[in-house]
Amino acid sequence: MVRDHGFHPVRIKRIIQETADTRTYVLDAPFPYRAGQFLTVRACGALRSYSMSSSPDTDSELTTTVKRVPGGLVSNWMHDHLAPGDLIETTAPAGVFCLREGTAPLVALCGGSGVTPILSLVKTALATTGRRVRVLTANRDADSVIFRDTLAELAKRYAGRFEIRHHLDDRQGLVTEAEIREFVGGDLNADVYLCGPAPFMALAEDTLLGHGVGAGQIVAERFTPLEPTAGEAAGVAAEPGRELGPENEAAAGRESGGGTVTVVLAGKRRTVDQHPRESLLESARRAGLMPPFSCEMGNCGTCIARLTEGEAKMRVNNALDDDEVAEGWVLTCQGEPVTTHVTVEYEA
Ligand SMILES: Cc1cc2nc3c(=O)[nH]c(=O)nc-3n(C[C@H](O)[C@H](O)[C@H](O)COP(=O)(O)OP(=O)(O)OC[C@H]3O[C@@H](n4cnc5c(N)ncnc54)[C@H](O)[C@@H]3O)c2cc1C
Repeated sequence: MVRDHGFHPVRIKRIIQETADTRTYVLDAPFPYRAGQFLTVRACGALRSYSMSSSPDTDSELTTTVKRVPGGLVSNWMHDHLAPGDLIETTAPAGVFCLREGTAPLVALCGGSGVTPILSLVKTALATTGRRVRVLTANRDADSVIFRDTLAELAKRYAGRFEIRHHLDDRQGLVTEAEIREFVGGDLNADVYLCGPAPFMALAEDTLLGHGVGAGQIVAERFTPLEPTAGEAAGVAAEPGRELGPENEAAAGRESGGGTVTVVLAGKRRTVDQHPRESLLESARRAGLMPPFSCEMGNCGTCIARLTEGEAKMRVNNALDDDEVAEGWVLTCQGEPVTTHVTVEYEA
């Protein structure tokens, strides 16, 4: 069965000021979800994903926590314009940054707002399993620590099973490889969850692998893409909410692979030449359209569209199940044409 990909009006019940630049939005959202998942918000003509800080296993209300990003479009708009009672448009929850089955301990390394899905996971792991849970959370200073009190309460309630360690940059400098190694210690069989700024995640991942943690044990949620998309590298803006012109075809400057990609979106139908290694999402942007997207890593499903002609192969698919793929759905950020002509149609 195809999951609900549409946007829904959701009322904000309350807003909690967590730190100077972070707020939690308590939503009147009747969605079922799993700990660690996120919603995608449509605002300011853009799409942005925000993880749940609540756990479906311990919290009666669904909450999502948003940190201001300097110069950022949607996070600042949410902080500056939203009030209790307002409606926002969101998708149903999605994502695969969820608790794995098993009895292995959980180790989480997070930075800044990366603690949001980690808190959700921690609450579920502590409430529904007997697993040991340890979290290292890094922040600039004491005032910017999000969920300090909640984490402290959990440490008290689950003493002996839950450990929280705070790293503060102003006192200790940036997190180092040595600190990560020391924190992980002998928990080499743990499931390790990572979420934080890109350099922090890169250091953590490299250190974990070097320390002997298997790649298959590391579960990462990236709030920002790893590297520029091909469109961005070619000088083509990838910012959601900004429609591109037909000149992008030339701006992308790559050789045609011989076939065509036809994209249907919001009543517009555009056809461009296929370019080698270009995703369907990139082709749609090059065609001058403004397709929906969020993670660009094959995780969130925001960029989903239906293949109505030809075939495409996804590099990564962490969002669609076999039935959905069989029905022709494709993650356009990951799909590359494998037939000469393909047509993809985004939902209205
Ligand atoms: C799966 C997932 C879960 C997430 N969960 C959370 C969460 O729980 N909490 C949370 O706070 N965030 C979360 N995020 C991040 C969130 O989706 C947004 O990316 C974040 O809020 C920034 O969005 P923005 O619109 O405010 O900033 P954007 O407008 O996207 O800007 C981001 C940065 O780019 C810069 N920028 C923008 N346009 C340009 C330009 N043209 N040239 C140069 N620089 C530019 C801005 O100055 C800013 O520094 C998540 C992301 C993903 C993918």
